[in-house]
Amino acid sequence: THFTCFHKLRRIVTANFQRSVCVERGWREYSECGVLRDSWNLWWRTTGLPLSHYKTLKTWQFTNHIPKGSSICRKDNLARYLRCMRKIYGNIYDFSPLGYNLPLEYTKLVAEFSRHSKNGGESVWICKPVGQSQGRGIFLFKDLGDLCYDSNAIVQRYIQNPLLIGGYKFDLRLYVCIPSYHPLTVYLYREGLARFSTDKFSMADLTNPFCHLTNSSLNKWGPGYNEKKERVGAGCKWSLKQLRRYFHQAKISDWLLWQRISALVVLTVVSQLSGIPNTANCFEFYGFDVLIDSSLRPWLLEVNLSPALGNDCDIDAIVKKPMLHDMFDLLGLPMCNTGLSLFTIWSNSTSENNSNDISSSENEDEENEPQKLRLFSGRKEAIHSSAISVVAAASRWKRRHQQKNHTTNVSATRSRKKSVCLQSTSLPSTTVPNPNGRKPRTRSTGTKTPIKSSSNSPNIAQNSYSTSSLAFSEDEESGQRCINAQMLQDSWTHYNPLLIDRSKNQVRGFHGQNKYPPPMLWGNGRDWRSPTAGEGNWVRLYPLGPTTQYHPAQESQELPSTTQADREVKNVVSAVHKYSKAAREIFKRNPTFSDELLNSEMKQTLGLTSDVWLPTK
Ligand code: ADP
Repeated sequence: THFTCFHKLRRIVTANFQRSVCVERGWREYSECGVLRDSWNLWWRTTGLPLSHYKTLKTWQFTNHIPKGSSICRKDNLARYLRCMRKIYGNIYDFSPLGYNLPLEYTKLVAEFSRHSKNGGESVWICKPVGQSQGRGIFLFKDLGDLCYDSNAIVQRYIQNPLLIGGYKFDLRLYVCIPSYHPLTVYLYREGLARFSTDKFSMADLTNPFCHLTNSSLNKWGPGYNEKKERVGAGCKWSLKQLRRYFHQAKISDWLLWQRISALVVLTVVSQLSGIPNTANCFEFYGFDVLIDSSLRPWLLEVNLSPALGNDCDIDAIVKKPMLHDMFDLLGLPMCNTGLSLFTIWSNSTSENNSNDISSSENEDEENEPQKLRLFSGRKEAIHSSAISVVAAASRWKRRHQQKNHTTNVSATRSRKKSVCLQSTSLPSTTVPNPNGRKPRTRSTGTKTPIKSSSNSPNIAQNSYSTSSLAFSEDEESGQRCINAQMLQDSWTHYNPLLIDRSKNQVRGFHGQNKYPPPMLWGNGRDWRSPTAGEGNWVRLYPLGPTTQYHPAQESQELPSTTQADREVKNVVSAVHKYSKAAREIFKRNPTFSDELLNSEMKQTLGLTSDVWLPTK
């Protein structure tokens, strides 16, 4: 699926939230045609991205997969990577059930079986075909004689003591976003899903998939799906918020569990870091499946490359839609790639000029909407009405979402305020785009945008990637993100392919001079050397504290050297080790503390610059 700045979407197979969110944000489906061949900004693929495809991307083009980023999403690779990491880093990697890749490791499995039976134990195993998903082809067995497989499969020790709610087994679907592997930058969303089986859990019957498998694609066809099940209710999904409410009612202290889960996510991601080339303009969006056992210990079951974004029930809409909106904000995808971005910047800037109070413009309620529109309509000739409605819709959504989060997520709101503030304060009135009141061209005009700009503002830091005309640069000292009108104009022309005059050969992709652009710098100006602490409900898990120095040698290489990568992996694991240890000790010392107190203790102890990740309660 491709999206363009004048947003078109290609190859829609099923209606899902990814499409509707793009449409809500003013994107349109792309249809390939002659001269406009490269006129798209986002390629949303359900499969991984081969390096050869990546190399053809242009500076303004983004994709939801990182080359080689899908390795951990194959069950056999994941088992191999985690086992290898366990050998090197020890029991910090004990979060994956013991598993064997078949047919390669059949003899090891046999040896484990005989060792176990000699000790008089009888264990249960689960066999999962490597190339399948959604619970297909999975079965449980006790005797080796019952194991039969006709394709590559993984056999894993079955977790026999899952945490049950009302007698039903469940697992978690967590959303993880990796905008950069070099340097490693990991975000985890505060919301997610708890997915229930629809028959009560019982080890007496190993053949009933509805009591052992929690895949919702399977359970929505189960006989118990519509039943009002004990504690769980009808359906088979809860949000994490519901789950946390249940934990609270059941007096289950879950703070440490979530800290273990966040550690598990970073440790899993880092296991494939050394195989990932330096890349810019692409991100990974994973779905992590985690099972919790009765001792509140999390187990990683699987990492999904293209987590389902379909709309099966109300909970899906509550969780997935805001998550995608927040992810677009986090990645800065609308910025410089859409007409929306310019209008949004303008809108913020104009409000700021009028009120001098960014935070009030952030929190303004629905009644203030006409005010904002009036500001636009004062420049009626400059703004297309459909653009206004897109801006208005996006602003409305943002405000609604912020209001909802305000009470539960003060810090997230703060970070959002910051980003809006930074956009608007950095645009003095003289540099508001389009001071002549002319309309930024749309696709139908097909010519360059007539944005005028004043000369460069002197306070703009010059650390942008010189050959890619970034729209933003980071002012290291003040920590402010500044927008310069000239840069804005550049970005508008360079990153909106439909506005590029091809006869002047202004298209600049990742070839020739730009063959391997610094991976931390994106074509839309995002600089992942100093990643934001969070956006909406996305919370940065890594880096934990102030960003570490990045090795400049990596900037020009396709693959980081083995020693560089090993050093990076070691740093990450040791940071997570420190984090997990602190979490354990703090929780042990203060088991009755509230989430807020535990979080602030963690932040103080570790000097964290981002929030401690916890699902919303
Ligand atoms: P798929 O890709 O087919 O969804 P998963 O690895 O996610 O495969 O497994 C499907 C379901 O089987 C999980 O949602 C979980 O309920 C159950 N399951 C998988 N592995 C284990 C395990 N080792 N122990 C207990 N339950 C498991």
